[in-house]
Amino acid sequence: MVVSKPVAPVAYQKGADRSRVSDRSANGAEWQAARFAMVRKLEAHGIRHAAVLSAMRLVERHRFVDSALANQAYEDTSLPIGLGQTISKPSVVARMIELLCHDRPAKLGRVLEIGTGCGYQAAVLSAVATEVYSMERLRGLHERARENLRAFRLSNLHLLMGDGMLGFAKGAPYAAIIAAAGGDDIPQAWTDQLAVGGRLVAPTVTATGRQNLVMVDKTARGLVRTELEAVHFVPLKSGIG
Ligand code: SAH
Repeated sequence: MVVSKPVAPVAYQKGADRSRVSDRSANGAEWQAARFAMVRKLEAHGIRHAAVLSAMRLVERHRFVDSALANQAYEDTSLPIGLGQTISKPSVVARMIELLCHDRPAKLGRVLEIGTGCGYQAAVLSAVATEVYSMERLRGLHERARENLRAFRLSNLHLLMGDGMLGFAKGAPYAAIIAAAGGDDIPQAWTDQLAVGGRLVAPTVTATGRQNLVMVDKTARGLVRTELEAVHFVPLKSGIG
């Protein structure tokens, strides 16, 4: 009698690109294998902070994108989420959150996110911070994020509908502020609402005329601005839509 060996699902096959799940009916273990492979790539690209890596391992990115795109959820790519907006690349999410966590071994305090989008980054933030306020100006996305996040039951995450350029004064001061949309400069409301000792990271147009990640540290002696690598984010817009 010949007993044929079970064929390993594609995500486990040796040499397969484990960050891509080819079958839309993939099970939880396959999604997890793809997600862990994504996190190994993040580590290979220099992400070191343990809390950031474990948050990226925890949050199921495939649940935040359209089911037709879910098989690409663990590739390092941005994907459309409707209304002309995109979910950021995992490497950019991890990089920005690592900048916020920098030399803090423990949890971040209160965080403000501008641009909830599909809610993915907000979920990652909720794993590294004590409290997260996430603002979205488009009602359609605000509601989609609420829907996407319902099953996760993240009691420290607060979704707010409003113009994030004004910040959210009621939650201030923030240990960290992160923007997922890029403006021509950093709104003063954000630096006003940042705690002394806090850090802000936002894509911003710089003197080069291009968008770069800009980091602002609020110190007892004032604001310290650092320009980092070039990025491509959707535009920061005022008002609500
Ligand atoms: N972090 C998101 C990325 C969403 S893309 C995710 O994980 O999916 C950026 C989002 O910023 C878009 O949804 C856009 O509508 C929103 N946005 C742009 N300007 C804004 C503003 N002034 N206030 C709040 N949200 C804004």
